[in-house]
Amino acid sequence: MKFISTRGKAPAIDFAELLLSGTAPDGGLYMPESLPDFSKNIPKWGSISYQELCFYLLQPFVEGHFSDFVLKDLIRKAYAPFSHPEICTIKPEQDYYLLELFHGPTYAFKDYALQLLGHFFEKTLEAGDKKYIFLGSTSGDTGSAAIHALKQKKNIFVVMLHPNRRVSEIQAKQMLTVFDPNVVNLAIQGTFDDCQALVKALFALPGFSKEYSLGAVNSINLVRILIQVAYYFYAYFAFQKLNLPFVISVPSGNFGNAFSAYLASLMGLPVEEIVVASNQNHVLTTFFDTGVYQPKEVVASLSPSMDIQISSNLERYLWLLANKDGEKIQTLYSQLKNQNQFFFDPKLFSNSLVKFTAGFASEKEVRQRINAYYQTTKNYMDPHTAVGVEVAIKKGKKNFLSLATAHPVKFYDRLEQITFSTYPLPQKIQTLLDSPSRCLILPADLMEVKELIENLHKEGKADFWAEE
Ligand SMILES: *Cc1c(COP(=O)(O)O)cnc(C)c1O
Repeated sequence: MKFISTRGKAPAIDFAELLLSGTAPDGGLYMPESLPDFSKNIPKWGSISYQELCFYLLQPFVEGHFSDFVLKDLIRKAYAPFSHPEICTIKPEQDYYLLELFHGPTYAFKDYALQLLGHFFEKTLEAGDKKYIFLGSTSGDTGSAAIHALKQKKNIFVVMLHPNRRVSEIQAKQMLTVFDPNVVNLAIQGTFDDCQALVKALFALPGFSKEYSLGAVNSINLVRILIQVAYYFYAYFAFQKLNLPFVISVPSGNFGNAFSAYLASLMGLPVEEIVVASNQNHVLTTFFDTGVYQPKEVVASLSPSMDIQISSNLERYLWLLANKDGEKIQTLYSQLKNQNQFFFDPKLFSNSLVKFTAGFASEKEVRQRINAYYQTTKNYMDPHTAVGVEVAIKKGKKNFLSLATAHPVKFYDRLEQITFSTYPLPQKIQTLLDSPSRCLILPADLMEVKELIENLHKEGKADFWAEE
């Protein structure tokens, strides 16, 4: 299969190149040239395992790069460290359902894609002698998931930028206690958007990503988005047994997860409605209501992995709505760059195969939702998950499937404050909290980060900075 850019000016690439690329040379994001239609397979897939389903869904995309045998093996390895036999599972609540996507090594949904991506990278690079540097920015969960997916992998470095002191205690520990020599943690003095801008700027430097063999782990990497399609299919079969329309609520930031749900529908999954749930950084809600995309300052919230104003993956959705008109997308994103906003004709929303409903929850509403859940169940709900539930309820939905994108323990300190209770920490978490950590603090300055990458490439090892 070939992959093409949303801005229409970059040459088509194959899977091997897609796997290792960030943004396309024309500034756009890669998309599959065409999508497989699995609607005929759906009646047959009701009782197969998560891993098998994942294999069938990814096979058309990786064809010609991994053999069936290799793909199966990599999927098996990727999901072996997950703690639930079903990999993901549906939990009934009072009048909705939660899709638990936190059974991976770092307790957030990002493990589902990144664990497999790590194996894809290693398998692809193990034969050569070139070292690749995987560069990413994180508001917490991507970083820990990527580091745990890439540590100890052959011919791979991971350089992860996170906003200094703006990630949760457990997120920080999950990243900064990994001392493997192929892992570099950079704490940037700024916001997540600053980190993301630095990564984008490095990829945009002419010739830089080729010369230093940079790869991307953010959800600008299409392979991540494709891998995520699997849990929507898997959840659908379980949900189907309840005889309910498949209405999903997705706590959104970069719009990667919600976009995977849309791709699932384009591949034949009968998705009824996608609720795009935002926190107080509700740039997406305004966009879906008015067609105006206008990023504001990021405001720190209880759900930091959604504290995003530049929702990169929206570009992929708009490209589809605009009938793959690269020039139109190019115009919109130049406007965004030059005037900090664009207007997308809302008439084009009618090209969407699935209805999107967007809404946001205020901090107060998120707190109330978490408290109400604690009072009735004596269990905790992660704040990102609470945004998804709250928005769907506010929009009048019932019996919907809400994505539980992180395990509550990741944000236990916030949850204790909100519920005035003491979170019973498992021993594993206590051990993590007691472990020593380290990172390198840098200003949000392109030249400093660039220099670090150049040094890393030259030295061929990541511990040069830790010796001071
Ligand atoms: C990353 C993340 C989100 C947002 O997902 P996007 O794909 O960026 O929209 C929501 N919740 C949690 C816990 C996350 O880690």
